[in-house]
Amino acid sequence: MRSFCLLRTRYLLHQVFPGQSITTMQRKYSLNVCAQLLRTQGYIDGHWISAASTFPVVDPATGEEIAKVADCGPAEAKQAVDSAHKAFYTWKQYTAKERSVLLRKWFDLLTLHKEDLAKLITFECGKTMKESLAEIAYSSSFLEWFSEQARRVYGDIVQPNTRDRRILLLKQPVGVASVITPWNFPSAMITRKVGAALAAGCTVVVKPAEDTPLSALALAELAGQAGIPAGVFNVVPCSREKTPSVGEVLCTDPLVAMVSFTGSTATGKILLKQAADTVKKTSMELGGHAPFIVFDSADVDKAVAGAMASKFRNSGQTCVCSNRFLVQNGIHDHFVKKLGQAMDTELRLGHGSDPNTTQGPLINVRAAQKVENQITDAVSRGATVLRGGKRLDGSFVQPTLLVDVTTDMLCTQQETFGPLLPVIRFNTEEEALAIANASQMGLAGYFYSQDISQIWRVTEALEVGMVGVNEGIISTSEASFGGVKQSGLGREGSKYGIDEYLDVKYMCFGGLTH
Ligand code: ADP
Repeated sequence: MRSFCLLRTRYLLHQVFPGQSITTMQRKYSLNVCAQLLRTQGYIDGHWISAASTFPVVDPATGEEIAKVADCGPAEAKQAVDSAHKAFYTWKQYTAKERSVLLRKWFDLLTLHKEDLAKLITFECGKTMKESLAEIAYSSSFLEWFSEQARRVYGDIVQPNTRDRRILLLKQPVGVASVITPWNFPSAMITRKVGAALAAGCTVVVKPAEDTPLSALALAELAGQAGIPAGVFNVVPCSREKTPSVGEVLCTDPLVAMVSFTGSTATGKILLKQAADTVKKTSMELGGHAPFIVFDSADVDKAVAGAMASKFRNSGQTCVCSNRFLVQNGIHDHFVKKLGQAMDTELRLGHGSDPNTTQGPLINVRAAQKVENQITDAVSRGATVLRGGKRLDGSFVQPTLLVDVTTDMLCTQQETFGPLLPVIRFNTEEEALAIANASQMGLAGYFYSQDISQIWRVTEALEVGMVGVNEGIISTSEASFGGVKQSGLGREGSKYGIDEYLDVKYMCFGGLTH
């Protein structure tokens, strides 16, 4: 039995990684970036600091250790909070233009070092170089956008209720923000928060995900080079084991005014509870369960292209990835056939730094097992596998297309975070909307239609924070990112993102004589 399994695994590996195995990949690919950007210590008060121990960062494609990083604990987290708190009193006195200029310099440095920064992402997170470069462009765009927004924070002068008064509403930075980020966008999820925070005049302590601390530390190096003052941007990397104790400091310390988090809904709920005791502001970007609806009137080629982009980006590991595909009866077979063909020609598994690769590994074996479990469950309940269907060596999973999917299957009830594309067939618009909205999550939703009235009806009826109409990839710094229901609180990017880091102070200027 064992030898059969080994043979089978080798056969599958040969199918998807022609000419290479995990061991040959280990020999072939090694992280090679400018030493200044490969930082492995914490960054507090403008200094690189060691911790009592380290934790390993591994390349998810090969399982090879690529760095040992300082495992910061609650003491370092507290030190970072104190440093951010001290720095806040000078940083908030900078003019908006001064803050804007520094953010712009930071943006310029990210652009200058985009190749090395992208390599760090590929090696710690697994995504392809093309996607990592796109992430650096996306990540730096938030520094650029908020360097511009910094100078556009306006208060109000409003009509007073008596003749002897004038009423002003001032916008002021909230203070120290704790920023806790995930591994799937190791750079962009930091800048989307920190760009807004720094523009507003707040200082930050970042706790990056344990799988991907290197991108956060490279951002710290470049923040220092850009001249962002000591204590304004701090990074405390830590292992999975230390995370709860570090998280507790960041969410409960009275000197912290705000917690901004991107990650799973389960973790978000823990952080919300912790932040409640000291009544902190919170901004939560949590899980998604995006529907992707294809109506009979859709342009099928565009719908297929949108489905490919929306599902297989980052091997399906984004919170806005489409998770449930609802396809109307009249177009179902045509769509599924073309989608299968696109998967055959466009998707190639491998190491992210191989230019031929379009699909890297999942972040770890646990993530791959979750997808495998959803596939097994769906098949046991009557789904048919049209493409893929297997977990491979390490954390690789074959891009998988399932049809005959029903709403009782795990893959239509839980966020997948992997390359599994389940197709549910439906008859009417009402039926599609009922399925799409039958979720506690409400982050993104997508649909393809050429019927103008239907486009407005469905956009307004979908219970989500972001809608892609005839588009599969919609995130951009100019637009608001965020969800409804249990997908979160608050908005990032856009003109609204900076509001999360500002308080409104009412000034009543009284006793005026005429
Ligand atoms: P995932 O399961 O995909 O890693 P998480 O929501 O657990 O998603 O992780 C997102 C971020 O939240 C990571 O930086 C992780 O370390 C952090 N995190 C997880 N648990 C806690 C916790 N109890 N306190 C603070 N941060 C946490």
